[in-house]
Amino acid sequence: MVLVLGLLLTVVGLAIAGRRLFFLYRLVSSGKPAPGRTEGAWERVQAEIVEVLGQRKLLKKTVPGVAHFFTFWGFTILLFTIIEAYGSLFQSSFAIPLIGHDSWLGFLEDFFSVAVLLALVVFTIIRIKNSPARKERSSRFYGSHTDAAWITLGGIALVVITLLMYRAAQVNVGDFPYSDFAFASHLIANALRPLGVATNRDLVSVFLVGNVAVLMAFLVFVTYSKHLHIFAAPLNVAFSRRPKALGGLWSTPNMDPEQLTEDTVFGAGKIDDFTWKQLLDLATCTECGRCQELCPAWGTGKPLSPKLLIMSLRDHLFHSADRLLAPAPAEGATAVEAVPLVPNVIDPDVLWACTTCGACVEACPVDIEHVDTIVDMRRYQVLMESEFPSEAGTMLRNIENQGDPWGLGTSHRLDWTEGLGFEVPVATGELPEDVEYLFWVGCAGALDERARKVTQSTARLLNKAGVKFAVLGPRESCTGDPARRLGNEYLYQMQAMQNVETLKDVRAKKVIASCPHCFNELANEYPALGGNFEVIHHSQLLSDLVKNRALVPSKESQAKITFHDSCYLGRHNGIYDEPRSVIDAVPGMVQVEMERTKERSFCCGAGGARMWLEENIGTRINEARVAQALELDPDMVSTACPYCMIMLDDGVKAKQASGEAKETVQVLDISQVLERSLQE
Ligand code: SF4
Ligand code: SF4
Repeated sequence: MVLVLGLLLTVVGLAIAGRRLFFLYRLVSSGKPAPGRTEGAWERVQAEIVEVLGQRKLLKKTVPGVAHFFTFWGFTILLFTIIEAYGSLFQSSFAIPLIGHDSWLGFLEDFFSVAVLLALVVFTIIRIKNSPARKERSSRFYGSHTDAAWITLGGIALVVITLLMYRAAQVNVGDFPYSDFAFASHLIANALRPLGVATNRDLVSVFLVGNVAVLMAFLVFVTYSKHLHIFAAPLNVAFSRRPKALGGLWSTPNMDPEQLTEDTVFGAGKIDDFTWKQLLDLATCTECGRCQELCPAWGTGKPLSPKLLIMSLRDHLFHSADRLLAPAPAEGATAVEAVPLVPNVIDPDVLWACTTCGACVEACPVDIEHVDTIVDMRRYQVLMESEFPSEAGTMLRNIENQGDPWGLGTSHRLDWTEGLGFEVPVATGELPEDVEYLFWVGCAGALDERARKVTQSTARLLNKAGVKFAVLGPRESCTGDPARRLGNEYLYQMQAMQNVETLKDVRAKKVIASCPHCFNELANEYPALGGNFEVIHHSQLLSDLVKNRALVPSKESQAKITFHDSCYLGRHNGIYDEPRSVIDAVPGMVQVEMERTKERSFCCGAGGARMWLEENIGTRINEARVAQALELDPDMVSTACPYCMIMLDDGVKAKQASGEAKETVQVLDISQVLERSLQE
């Protein structure tokens, strides 16, 4: 009877779950090809070890992270108990061959059973404690489905309780394979022993079948809920971007006019345009809200939440399943039209609010790639629909016609060299042998009044340290970063290819960039278009020069300073320590960290072409960031990005005007901080 019931439940459970999983497989497979997702096998194995087995990102939140760690490992170890349960259906004294009587296995099974129960208690307390706050916009769980989470907690608890109960009863009837160390089973067995052997035998049957029933019900439930991530997350991590989750955008569409057909689609305008990996992302989201919690757009009252964006696309994917999986229509029959994603599924205000800062990608424990998906949708809007915020049009035209977003033109590219006191070589042909670096000044560094001062400081420092460099002057043009982040891939590639040609023409090998956006383009995105250069950010070079004592800061400063991580220097490129080490080299200077620092840094609001877009909804992001800095009462706010500097400087000025910041607070690049310490 026990065997029949157990097998019947298993067949029904596996049939329902299997059918659902096959449906999900077909749905995800309906996506477009996703090239490069299996390259770098060893890096993928490492990612599985660190992200899935090690639970790296989850452990960043200690209490829920540790609870999740034990739940994950508990379920992994408890796979042994599933084997034992099924074995016991056939033979009451079943033990796993070879290891089935080993004390360590009995101990591990019991230890993780108890650990999982304790983790469930922690989860329950956290949920109850945060329950009212979860409904508030500031909660990371705002908008998540919470009912399913209670069912999951209950389901896991039942799996473990039924498991411990049949094991305890097995002890009392002499069928338990572990004589000692399975402490929990033996402890419960003591309590059940007075019931007698016959009753304990009945208890084994009841709880064994109960365990199988709960397992099967849980399996089915998981495949129909957000807890699908139990299966999907290891796959999503295995196929995620490697070696880096951020940096350059993943895809570089072929824009060669000769290879385009009238069916060519740029970007993603409907769910059908996503790759299978992007669809797998949607199916994997756990609704944990770690991305939402850190998103600067959401945090300042914009309608964009990376979590809600992924959830909306996921819901739309499931609503579109019948159409996506339907056989191709017969000849002459009309296919059901796909719904345009914007504005039907994603509001334009959501799409254009993203700064591409990458906080969401960095935080996501299951490696969902929000930024690539958002830019893909922008590409469709710009290239296929010509729909984008009107103010972006001016910036795009300026890049196209004048080679910079402000439209100032090439004639001003060398203005910053005036009054430097030394000659800056301008590369007109091949760089001379003794010139080691090509200094990529960038549009802001050459044309914005405040950023020019940073360029001058950097140039003076390089000159003082004896670094031989040259610049392109009028031959330098916008890298195309704002055009690309806005979705205008065509303009980006025109700019990028022109720049690659110029850099090849002067035979540049090592390039210094003081703008992290330029750095990111040159280092991470130009290789896809044939530009392979050794690129170094000025913070890295200055850090080396200080370390090698080519620059020796000596003038003492008692200033309190906080460093703001640029998203494209930090999260996108992992450069956190070098700019800080430059500041630390200044004698007497006190460096303090904001709460949102390094990987968790808060965007200045300029990335993703947002520098050129209106910010009409919610609080201004730059002012929110400045407010975070001002909490430390600093004398200086430092950065290593011209765009961050402009945004933070505007923010500080706004706060000074409203009396919220002291008049003496300064915003400086690390090169300026260093240079001041060198001056007599
Ligand atoms: S990239 Fe930044 S702004 Fe865009 S959704 Fe992610 S966290 Fe929000
Ligand atoms: S996208 Fe990632 S971080 Fe955001 S809610 Fe989903 S699983 Fe959590």
